[in-house]
Amino acid sequence: MSVLRGVGSTAQRELAELGIGSVLDLITHYPRQGRYIDGTRLVPVASLTPGDKASVLGRVTRVGRPSSGYGRGRRRSPARVELEVADASGCVQVVFFNQVWRAKQLPVGTLALFFGSVGTYRGSRQLNSPTVEVLQPAGGGDGTGEGDSGEGDTGADDGIGDGPVPSAGRVFPVYPLTERAKLTSTRISRYVAESLDRAGTFADPLPDPVRTGNGLIDRTAAFNQIHRPASLDEAEPARRRLAFDELFRLQLDLVLRRERLQEDARGIRHRTARGDGQITLVERFIAGLGFELTGAQRQAMAVIGEDLAGPLPMHRLLQGDVGSGKTVVAVAALLVAVEGGHQGALMAPTEVLAEQHGTAVRSLVDGLSVPDPATLAGERPLRVALLTSRTTAGERATILSGLADGSVDVLIGTHALLTDQVTFRSLGVAVIDEQHRFGVEQRAALREKGRGADGRGQDPDLLVMTATPIPRTAAMVVFGDLDMTIIDELPPGRLPVTTQWARTPRQVDAAWKRVRSEAEAGRRAFVVCPLVEGSERVEATSVVAEAERLAGAELAGLRIGILHGQLSSAEKERSMAEFRRGGVDVLVATTVIEVGVDVPEATVMVIEDADRFGIAQLHQLRGRVGRGRDRAWCYLLSSNDAPEAAARLSALEGSVDGFALAEVDLELRGEGTILGSRQKGRSDLRLAKLVSDRDLVVMAREVAEQMVAGDPGLVQHELLADELRLFIDETEAEFLFKS
Ligand code: ADP
Ligand code: MG
Repeated sequence: MSVLRGVGSTAQRELAELGIGSVLDLITHYPRQGRYIDGTRLVPVASLTPGDKASVLGRVTRVGRPSSGYGRGRRRSPARVELEVADASGCVQVVFFNQVWRAKQLPVGTLALFFGSVGTYRGSRQLNSPTVEVLQPAGGGDGTGEGDSGEGDTGADDGIGDGPVPSAGRVFPVYPLTERAKLTSTRISRYVAESLDRAGTFADPLPDPVRTGNGLIDRTAAFNQIHRPASLDEAEPARRRLAFDELFRLQLDLVLRRERLQEDARGIRHRTARGDGQITLVERFIAGLGFELTGAQRQAMAVIGEDLAGPLPMHRLLQGDVGSGKTVVAVAALLVAVEGGHQGALMAPTEVLAEQHGTAVRSLVDGLSVPDPATLAGERPLRVALLTSRTTAGERATILSGLADGSVDVLIGTHALLTDQVTFRSLGVAVIDEQHRFGVEQRAALREKGRGADGRGQDPDLLVMTATPIPRTAAMVVFGDLDMTIIDELPPGRLPVTTQWARTPRQVDAAWKRVRSEAEAGRRAFVVCPLVEGSERVEATSVVAEAERLAGAELAGLRIGILHGQLSSAEKERSMAEFRRGGVDVLVATTVIEVGVDVPEATVMVIEDADRFGIAQLHQLRGRVGRGRDRAWCYLLSSNDAPEAAARLSALEGSVDGFALAEVDLELRGEGTILGSRQKGRSDLRLAKLVSDRDLVVMAREVAEQMVAGDPGLVQHELLADELRLFIDETEAEFLFKS
């Protein structure tokens, strides 16, 4: 960094505060999204017209003493700060109400941009409470900063002067700055300009035909145009190219990772049909279901069947909305493994869910048998085992030996499945439910189980499921190393859950009345207590207190149970079992019920302080009711009508489609939450937006696929390989500047 003129130790420290430690960091410190000062549209002070909105670039020439408000109560007048701002054409009054701090922010000599409406006051024009962008603080222009002549300086402020100062006719970028940093956009702009001048031409890793074929500008132009566009029109093509690069690097990494997994894979070619013309286990399973599969379920099973029959291990993500029937699809995949003499495993994120899957899968496969030459009949019942941290030592030993000798066909459990002692005779298919609760490492660990302790086994086929749909393009970024199947159809006859945002006391009252009337009709209700950030204990207390309160008030006379994270596993299971069999009418719970809980008789859900939950979580919670044939209701209790909360609650009221809600969520919250841990350091998406740049995501994916298909080792694309290492491995290299 110190190679840049005027960047001494102080400036380096200031840049470091913005996370800028290298020239690469500097040129990828982009102007704030869409923020440029368009010098071609500045209005000279002399031509300001009352009634207009205008941008003025000027220096503060006078600051009046802030006047505190006078009067009292509602008639109290606001505190005022008055400034005088001048440009070459004249000067204008600027007034701020209730922003006394502006006097400190804008001392005499400050150069700033003011944008606001022009009014008149006592005959002269004035700008009323404009927005402000400080370009140069007062005193010493925008010099190189005090103390910059310290060690490490390679030449002081020699003739760069004030650098590019915004002026009429130029477009000037506005950079993200921290509150504390003394840096200004002007100064960053100057450092960037010097970096760009020195770099000259950037190597472009994208082959010309690919670039032009996709309507992208070259990289040198992109870096220059984003930092110093000649006109505002130049900025967007630059942003698009650089945003594409961000997405492309991610996709390339994902595609290569998938490729690598397949390279040294030892997959199993599962048999999905029998040579002897007899019907398969899966066919018997489907025939025994009490319902017809939906078209989407059939299609998912067909695609999965092809994966299973193929030589490469499956890595597939199955997305489906709450209640779309993913479990049946997963069980069919497990049975394909069993049919071929292998075993299946199903891993769930919580004990409640694992135990419920245990119950559900056992009843689904009830009556199915597998060949066993050791028995008289030549077959034995299919055996499903459940392994959680609650499994007793004795049971556990039996299960472990059954897994090792192959007499356990399907293992269901929590991450207890991943412990070292668990060895399969031959793990053929592994399913992970609610993928978002597990990390990539756990996916890999489960896969390892196929290879066995001696590493000589085969790689199981892997199916991951998520009940929290995410938009397709977002999924491409987050789960891009997986193939994807979507179940976009609910079983027939499901009535949408009637959802109401209960704001007024009367609406809230109606919600409790519904709980009571459903309970009296023999059905059941959930009450979800407010989310308490980071404290399971406080949540537990609030569940107990709320259950007691309700028992003495709105729900007096009903049988009320509780469920929260502080209960022991045994207590949790007892509580769930009691609710399931109808021993209690109402279950007051925390979000532990969010995932997977399946009680068909539950028809009402009341969510207290619903504004504290996110869209996806509310949708998940709502998915716990309406799973049977009866009408169901969900009440979102909240009196918060702040715009953001209102947007969420109204979205829930207006839609029961998880994919549509996921789009709304993405739009409201931005990509940060979806990307989560993916956002770290250089591989961040700084310019790319998952919502507005959907086309770029798809384009990046396609280009990555084509490139890897034609050149799996990227040997003909050395620059690209280098770049990937730089951005993904976070190692330092200045190769970008090779031209
Ligand atoms: P999810 O996708 O949320 O995991 P589940 O697999 O738990 O959904 O299925 C929800 C409920 O719907 C279960 O009770 C299941 O037995 C039932 N179900 C699944 N497929 C069908 C179908 N095709 N027709 C009717 N009911 C179905
Ligand atoms: Mg499920």
